Amino acid sequence: MLNYRNTLIVFITALILVAATDYFIPVSLGFYIGIVLVLLLLLTWGSISIRAGFYMKSACCGKSSKNAIVLTFDDGPDGLVTPILLDILKEYNAKATFFVIGSKAEKHPEILKRIDNEGHIIGGHSYSHHFFFDLFSYRSMRQELAHTSEIVYRTIGKRIKLFRPPYGVTNPVIAKVIRDQQYHSIGWSLKSKDTVMKNNDQLISRLKQNLKAGDIILFHDSKPRNIKILGTFLKYLDEQHIAVEQIDNFLNIRVYDY
Ligand SMILES: [Zn+2]
Repeated sequence: MLNYRNTLIVFITALILVAATDYFIPVSLGFYIGIVLVLLLLLTWGSISIRAGFYMKSACCGKSSKNAIVLTFDDGPDGLVTPILLDILKEYNAKATFFVIGSKAEKHPEILKRIDNEGHIIGGHSYSHHFFFDLFSYRSMRQELAHTSEIVYRTIGKRIKLFRPPYGVTNPVIAKVIRDQQYHSIGWSLKSKDTVMKNNDQLISRLKQNLKAGDIILFHDSKPRNIKILGTFLKYLDEQHIAVEQIDNFLNIRVYDY
């Protein structure tokens, strides 16, 4: 299985074998550099591919036997967008999971309460969502998660168990924090691309084309364009008889520690 531990074992073994060969038959420096470059490429690929489960396991999809999907929203709560998305979700009787940024949750406790009151689930997405979050120390990352968890607990009285790594980037430090703090890491199988695609119609067409049973779909409630997109997408799911399921049933996991 291609994961961090196995990769390190294979590469260290390879380096030892090459060094041993070098003792008898000279091996060019380029060969050593090649091995290290391949290792760096693999480590980078593992970092940016949450679905690969290279550094840690993240739940990225559910069973495809059920005609159901899960909706997730990152980077909120947003004072303007999140309440409108909640209205749309209510209209379609759909439940979602919101991976909140601690610093934003702190500013909008009333939205956090509303998310919870209306039957949606809250997970953590770091406190700062700092661009260099992945380079933070173990201690800083743990503080980010603990701080966010505390804010949610103060507001809704529930301890979060779900975490989505900012930017979906993983590494050995994040993996250790998640393991030690006993969070479930949640990825996705389908990105809406609401942060990069320019045209809403093209975005919705792409979602419809790529959609499959068991998907965990990633949106951002920080993006006002989702006010237009969400209703159209939920209507399509309704027409296709695709259920929007809640993540705890979907993955059969506990989402809070009470
Ligand atoms: Zn994010």
